[in-house]
Amino acid sequence: MKAEANVIKNSETILVIGGGLVGTEMTSNVATKYPEKKVIICQAGPYILPRVPEAHDKVTAFWESLGNVEVHLNERVIEFDDMLQEYKTDKGNTFNAGKVIRATGYKPNTDFFKDANTDPAIAAALDDKGFVKCDPNLRLHGFSNIYVSGDIVEDAYFGKTGVTRSGERFPERLAAVAGSHSYVVTNNIKRTITGEPLASIDASRDPFGQPVEISLGLEKGLAVVHGDLAPLYVGMGFDFGVDNEEFVKYGCAISANVPGLKDYISDLCAKATYIPEAHEGLRQFGAMDPKVLDPLAPPMPPPPGADGAGDGEADQAPADPAPEPTEEAKADVPEAAPAEAEE
Ligand SMILES: Cc1cc2nc3c(=O)[nH]c(=O)nc-3n(C[C@H](O)[C@H](O)[C@H](O)COP(=O)(O)OP(=O)(O)OC[C@H]3O[C@@H](n4cnc5c(N)ncnc54)[C@H](O)[C@@H]3O)c2cc1C
Repeated sequence: MKAEANVIKNSETILVIGGGLVGTEMTSNVATKYPEKKVIICQAGPYILPRVPEAHDKVTAFWESLGNVEVHLNERVIEFDDMLQEYKTDKGNTFNAGKVIRATGYKPNTDFFKDANTDPAIAAALDDKGFVKCDPNLRLHGFSNIYVSGDIVEDAYFGKTGVTRSGERFPERLAAVAGSHSYVVTNNIKRTITGEPLASIDASRDPFGQPVEISLGLEKGLAVVHGDLAPLYVGMGFDFGVDNEEFVKYGCAISANVPGLKDYISDLCAKATYIPEAHEGLRQFGAMDPKVLDPLAPPMPPPPGADGAGDGEADQAPADPAPEPTEEAKADVPEAAPAEAEE
């Protein structure tokens, strides 16, 4: 990390490839920390943060206010010459940059599943994108005593983005979801021994999309929260510093409170590694996730905006089905396929 930071420090120009969550954070963080440097961001599609329909205008306006970010849309870097530090695009541009940050999407690090010494049944548990197939109890496909959680789990067990410009929703691999997986897995390991009913994940119970907080440097951040869900978070003490109407209208907002909220969450996670009460408190966040079905958990009230009486999980409202994308909308977003989609 230090070596990477030093390369950035010693570069006049930094090229960020990809305008998803990570590319947006990196562009903003470098541009705000080093106002004297130029940051070029090259995004293959027509929008920055294409998964958050209203985010593009807000983020690009923020970058414009910084004055040192150059945005290239509908443009791909296709030739890399790290010796000459020259990077050519499909539009004929050549960028010179001392540091290139590639933020074009995650790939699961699961090659070891296919190791020659590993049981072939384990290799068979990988899907065609290299993610790990499992059942709703997060047991590895074909096994009753191996559990899986976090980013390597197949798409089906993640909360999704809100409805994107293409009219689709994509699985969002985030720490919060990994936390929900952990809740299910840690309970299920114990219950495998005691014989109690297992907890499970039902990602369709995710009507509002996965909330995300995106750093825009140390002073600001973009909070992405469905307008119906934001009051619940505010009630839990997460003050976004934003009039809820803005979330209702745009589904996202730039706020000076976001860095503090991210610090608070990081602090909570750090404390959970050595303070038992903090650990248990964080674990219980998993129980509050509507995607988690735990037959042994006390009944939870339904999230605001959901239908139903809400006296237990059976009454929780089903997820809003994602609307079918229109042909026009599909043409609007030439983004990568979900497996390759930007973080
Ligand atoms: C730049 C960036 C910013 C992000 N920002 C946010 C954010 O603001 N909010 C949010 O909710 N999420 C964010 N995420 C996503 C979040 O980090 C992940 O969803 C989360 O870390 C997933 O947890 P995990 O335990 O599944 O995987 P990881 O945190 O990646 O942990 C996997 C661990 O497994 C180890 N490992 C790998 N292979 C093996 C092996 N063969 N044997 C043993 N160990 C192995 C790795 O070394 C690593 O320690 C961000 C991700 C990135 C890359």
